[in-house]
Amino acid sequence: MYHRALSLGVRFHFGRPADQSAVASESAEAVIAATGSLPSPLPFPVEPGVDFLISEDILEGSGTVGRRVLLVDLEGGRRAVGTALGLAGRVVKLEFLSPELLISPELVPSGEFVHWYREAYQKGIVFRPQLEIVRATPSGLEVIGSYSRKPEHLKGFDTLVAVVPPTPCRGFYEDLQRAGVEVWAAGDCVAPRGLGSAIREGRIAGLKI
Ligand SMILES: Cc1cc2nc3c(=O)[nH]c(=O)nc-3n(C[C@H](O)[C@H](O)[C@H](O)COP(=O)(O)OP(=O)(O)OC[C@H]3O[C@@H](n4cnc5c(N)ncnc54)[C@H](O)[C@@H]3O)c2cc1C
Repeated sequence: MYHRALSLGVRFHFGRPADQSAVASESAEAVIAATGSLPSPLPFPVEPGVDFLISEDILEGSGTVGRRVLLVDLEGGRRAVGTALGLAGRVVKLEFLSPELLISPELVPSGEFVHWYREAYQKGIVFRPQLEIVRATPSGLEVIGSYSRKPEHLKGFDTLVAVVPPTPCRGFYEDLQRAGVEVWAAGDCVAPRGLGSAIREGRIAGLKI
């Protein structure tokens, strides 16, 4: 895709944040903002000494994952499923914790959860639904039942991996809008979803311009 774009005359500027002055220096008549999203802040404290990663670290291959992993899904969608299945062959113990009534509720309407549950069972992933994290400490995880409100202390994990909902990065888009520049938005900066939406919306905006 990159080489195709180059051959069509697209110029790329890497390693430089785009802002209003960059847009002005390009004399751009219209801008498509595709600034993506960033992980939201964690809703529970993680004390120093806890081996803690987020799903983006796993995707990038940064950070060392221990042999016994507790994965906390704060989103309920596909990202936690992908992260869990990616980890399953590399670790000896993997538990999947969620504050929801059931694991991965976003996969229920499409029926995808059936395949995922089967695969999780075959790969030895243990589900722990209906648990909210209160605090992560080096001696374990303090949790409370989402409905029972009964506290528990989970132990025996080397690494805590969290899947946190992304927050759209809209600053660039909003700055340009305020400045009266013709600006369109595509992808996760509109609302975090998937690659397909980013590509489709970028294409539609490009065709309209
Ligand atoms: C762990 C994980 C797993 C996922 N799995 C899937 C999956 O299986 N299938 C799927 O469809 N989607 C998946 N997604 C979601 C998918 O990655 C996103 O929906 C998609 O990358 C959104 O594309 P985007 O171009 O909108 O934003 P991004 O891919 O986030 O790209 C935005 C880019 O803009 C840059 N940027 C931001 N501000 C500026 C600025 N001012 N100047 C210059 N550059 C800037 C950022 O650094 C970033 O490189 C996953 C996401 C994660 C985190």
